[in-house]
Amino acid sequence: MEPDQLFERLWIGAAAMEEWTAAVSGGSARSITGSVIAIHTGYLFGNATAVRTDAGLVLVDTGSRETASQTLAALRRWDDSPVHTVIYTHGHIDHTWGARLLDQEADARGTMRPRIIAHRNVLYRFDRYDATHGLNSLVMGRQFNQPGYTFPEGHRRPDEVYDDGLALMVGGVRIELFHGRGETDDATVVWLPEQRVLASGDFVIWVFPNAGNPRKVQRFGPDWAATLRRMQALKPEVLIPGHGPVIFGEARAAQVLGDGAEALESLTGQTLALMNKGSSLDEILHAVSAPAELLAKPYLLPKYDDPEFVVRNIWHLYAGWFDGNPAHLKPAPAIELAAELASLAGGADKLAQRAAVLAEGGRTRLAAHLAELAGTASPQDRAIQATRASVYARCAEAETALIGKAIFAVYQREAQAQSTG
Ligand SMILES: [Zn+2]
Repeated sequence: MEPDQLFERLWIGAAAMEEWTAAVSGGSARSITGSVIAIHTGYLFGNATAVRTDAGLVLVDTGSRETASQTLAALRRWDDSPVHTVIYTHGHIDHTWGARLLDQEADARGTMRPRIIAHRNVLYRFDRYDATHGLNSLVMGRQFNQPGYTFPEGHRRPDEVYDDGLALMVGGVRIELFHGRGETDDATVVWLPEQRVLASGDFVIWVFPNAGNPRKVQRFGPDWAATLRRMQALKPEVLIPGHGPVIFGEARAAQVLGDGAEALESLTGQTLALMNKGSSLDEILHAVSAPAELLAKPYLLPKYDDPEFVVRNIWHLYAGWFDGNPAHLKPAPAIELAAELASLAGGADKLAQRAAVLAEGGRTRLAAHLAELAGTASPQDRAIQATRASVYARCAEAETALIGKAIFAVYQREAQAQSTG
């Protein structure tokens, strides 16, 4: 099938992104103009954009550890010129890791290493990655449900950084960068005004904005919306997203940018309205929801992050960590609370039994509370751990988002292991 036909099916939700990943796997170049291509290696790995100039190539992002060699090979099938400049759209490893291959290639060829440009906060991010290597290995392993995952080390720092915006002329091509916060605090949007081509980085990712991730540093839903509006105002003809296929045509690009902004503006507006009235986080989490017609758009499905997690991050952005429940301000150790409630209920096994019944009836949220109390009160009890495992299996099934599914699956597996000793 031709890529365009596949795109049309993706656009109306008649094809799954896995089909697109299969179509581009191994590394695939998509022509944008005579001098611009997008390079894809699969949905989970960041796209790259290459621009041909009289001074050499400009590359926006470089690919991930898993597929950067495919990104480079696809680039070289198109143009063998030296890479003059690399722009990171942000410091996530699936966008930056391939830079080391470009350095190695330049060293082997005896040419200049590329100049790497990024927002200033990429420097702070890489320092943080160095300081939290063990944590990042654990968090990423759990997010993607890959036991034993090891986070990369030796991140290639940018050579030049900027703060708000930067206009470049490289080999006769004008390239404009501007900064916005969204998934990260170090993001850059790349605009080619002459071609009207926009490389959005992860502000556009063909799923609901990933602004809620439970185990990552603060994300910025409201700023994400504002940056999408700024992109929309540029009226791009071509929108190259951070992940997924290129969106051609001014109307479609405007629609994707506008719908994403509207979804985040809605969550932000609802959350702030309740916060301003003094609602607790609990009340807000169960009252706020994203507009159903936006959640149904094929490019806004909550398949990766969960809008409920986004609401939590909006709360945290404006209000810090206290959720408005006085019992959570200076809580007792979890084990003491669990023992107390187990005693009141007539034993930890009573809590576990009720958890199993609730989970069977589809009340997985409540079931998780009771299963966790039972397991904490009586961690050596294999039957209780088996119940915990089955409850978390139900919880994982109930989720649409990859992150929620993966986290429940991790605890399911741990409980399973404890249930068999
Ligand atoms: Zn990404």
